[in-house]
Amino acid sequence: MIYLDNASTTKMFESALRQYQKYACQLFYNPSAFYRPAREVKKALDDARQTLLKRLGAKQGDIIFTSGATESNNLAVQGSRRNGKWEYVFSMGEHPSIFNVAKELERQGCTVHYLPLQENGEVDYNALEKVVNEKTRLVCVMHISNETGALNDIKKVSQIVKTKSKALLHVDGVQAFNKIEFSIDDLGADSYTISAHKFHGPKGVGALYVRNPNSLKSLVFGGGQENDLRSGTENVPGIMAMKEACEQIDVAKNFEKTQRLKSALTQILCDDGNVKIVQSFSPYILSISYRGVNGETLARALQDEGVLVSTGSACSTKKAGNRILESMGMKKEEVVSSIRISFNAYMSQEEVEEAGRKILLCAGRLATLNV
Ligand code: PMP
Repeated sequence: MIYLDNASTTKMFESALRQYQKYACQLFYNPSAFYRPAREVKKALDDARQTLLKRLGAKQGDIIFTSGATESNNLAVQGSRRNGKWEYVFSMGEHPSIFNVAKELERQGCTVHYLPLQENGEVDYNALEKVVNEKTRLVCVMHISNETGALNDIKKVSQIVKTKSKALLHVDGVQAFNKIEFSIDDLGADSYTISAHKFHGPKGVGALYVRNPNSLKSLVFGGGQENDLRSGTENVPGIMAMKEACEQIDVAKNFEKTQRLKSALTQILCDDGNVKIVQSFSPYILSISYRGVNGETLARALQDEGVLVSTGSACSTKKAGNRILESMGMKKEEVVSSIRISFNAYMSQEEVEEAGRKILLCAGRLATLNV
């Protein structure tokens, strides 16, 4: 099988699994307990916090460990809510773990604004400028789109938000953390979501970076762990495996390698005039459509040829995928024809080239059948 759905999840590093096992079977103690072996676990947890802060380029702020990006995003959005006439702003490109929270806020009577996307998949910065005001409580713009790989200029977003309001800026960094080089202090985000299984760590563990922990309110009440923002005994094995995965990754080297993979595939696909490529910044994600061929039918045919791709974000319905591509102004028939190909830095160029040939073969065959 050639696995080209890495934006959905990645294979865990063996070394991460070894760390998982160590903290599940040997150093299994509750980090909140008073005795010495437990204090050692607490220290390991704090080291993991420092590793993530360092990788984020954060000189201040805290890491709140969570069960993954969905929880981190919910904490950032719902935890920012305050009584009174506040307004909330969301880009149309957000993942369902933010977009559906926005819909829920709206249902509960909050004033919610949605920012359209530009044709290249980036958020419309002019629309942001128009909508932010002193009543804005929160702005959410993701770092890299999980659908298209488009990179939003978060620094620019932050400058607009901070000049016009005292609002918090939350950034979903799931497809950017450990994939591109950046510093959170430079970006100016107040909170930032990461998820371990997108960078060869385990599923069900992630984190929320918060510049000022007092800016959020907890959604989960209990023992007061994680700076009182996320009660419950921490998933220590998962967190230590996430730390290990993080340390294994050379962001710059992987970026370069993945860029070569993406451009090799793009070159093969471009030889066929029926392929439309969505140009984007991230080397990890490539969204394409083949004229006249249904994306889902193509993805299924590719599966039979041993190539796994996605028709959009795997954790969203097809409708959600359409929402993002449609708000970029893509034609309906192109949206229906879209597939998402996503890489990891550890696959070979041969694999990618073979997948490219199979995509053209399957799509060409389906095109003649008109399906
Ligand atoms: N945000 C983005 C941008 C994502 O791509 C995903 C995973 N598809 C999530 C959030 C949700 O991640 P998790 O599975 O860790 O909840």
